[in-house]
Amino acid sequence: MSVSPFHVVVLPGDGIGPEVMTQAMRVLDAVRPHLHRPVEVEECWIGGAAIDRFGVPLPQETRDACLAADAVLLAAVGGPKWDHLPVSQAPEAGLLGLRKAMAVFANLRPAVVYPALADASPLKRERVEGVDLLVVRELTGGLYYGPAGRKETPEGEPFAYNTMRYTRSEVRRVAQAAFEAARQRRHHVTSVDKANVLEVSRFWREEVTAVAKEYPDVALDHLYVDNAAMQLATRPGQFDVLLAENTFGDILSDEAAAITGSLGLLPSASLGKGARGFYEPVHGSAPDIAGKGTANPIAQILSLAMLLRYSAQEVQAAEAIEEAVRQTIAAGYRTPDIAQSNETAIGTQEMGNAILDALASCYPSA
Ligand code: NAD
Repeated sequence: MSVSPFHVVVLPGDGIGPEVMTQAMRVLDAVRPHLHRPVEVEECWIGGAAIDRFGVPLPQETRDACLAADAVLLAAVGGPKWDHLPVSQAPEAGLLGLRKAMAVFANLRPAVVYPALADASPLKRERVEGVDLLVVRELTGGLYYGPAGRKETPEGEPFAYNTMRYTRSEVRRVAQAAFEAARQRRHHVTSVDKANVLEVSRFWREEVTAVAKEYPDVALDHLYVDNAAMQLATRPGQFDVLLAENTFGDILSDEAAAITGSLGLLPSASLGKGARGFYEPVHGSAPDIAGKGTANPIAQILSLAMLLRYSAQEVQAAEAIEEAVRQTIAAGYRTPDIAQSNETAIGTQEMGNAILDALASCYPSA
């Protein structure tokens, strides 16, 4: 019986995007023989590259292809060439439009500190060694989307307001995403709120607690956001999955990223209903190094691993890729962004080669 293929839309985008995506595609080709389903790849245009070719950052064809796909893998968009364009026509508008169209509501950002790179962290080695956490951020609700505006008080003084507001289903679906992710990790969710002050946080806490009942194998605790920010900077190793609403998650995910000290290593996933997801490195198009062959492809390769884990349910392949990256870093391979002054740096392609070699040892029969 033939198995229906898993359909991935690939969006290399701008700047270093095509360079790092090439390496991710080599890794995909290497794991293909070990996957349960064939994977079909369709490459589409987005961002500045799409503006140059079609005059718009998100061509209809790309949008349609992404909406029909099982998963989308993006590299990055943007660059100085398009900086003069109005916000609504800029490369980044294509990305925002796509995220919206795909109705992704949970953003997953792992932050892993590799022992060999612990000195790149702004925190002391002993504080960050062993850090392996995942921030799950609500992406479509809260302050960024609630009623907002500007008015005047009865006395004529101008004021502005935003509203943090969450429905039960909005909280429950992102909480479920966090608990599901915890099941693939160390079975521990820490939910972040400000329930000592905000009504919406009290509601958030009640709803997350209700969802936890469906996951008796996952431990749940709660932290106030100010304490969470402090704990992240002092004892980040205690966290497995950190769950937060949109604004708190925005801030905490960047704090967690900063702890790792290496932008070129950070992948992300944005999940919608069902298993469909949107995967991309945390970094941008790095125009300052585009075309030089020195970009670090690891964040892109780890974004592919997340795609295989969360959308394709190919957990073994995801683990093999993550292990290959760990081994490559442990063996001392460094692109310039993660090299110390006394270390020799290699290029994008060489880093891809080293990861492919390590991957072959994760699959001895290959
Ligand atoms: P950036 O992440 O592109 O670069 C910040 C710094 O990190 C640069 O010095 C860059 O060289 C370095 N860097 C980033 N990724 C790297 C990698 N893989 N390997 C080695 N070094 C790497 O952020 P920026 O400079 O603020 O933005 C540049 C452009 O990217 C802008 O047009 C911005 O709008 C866009 N951007 C896009 C996305 C996205 O597509 N999701 C995200 C952020 C920024």
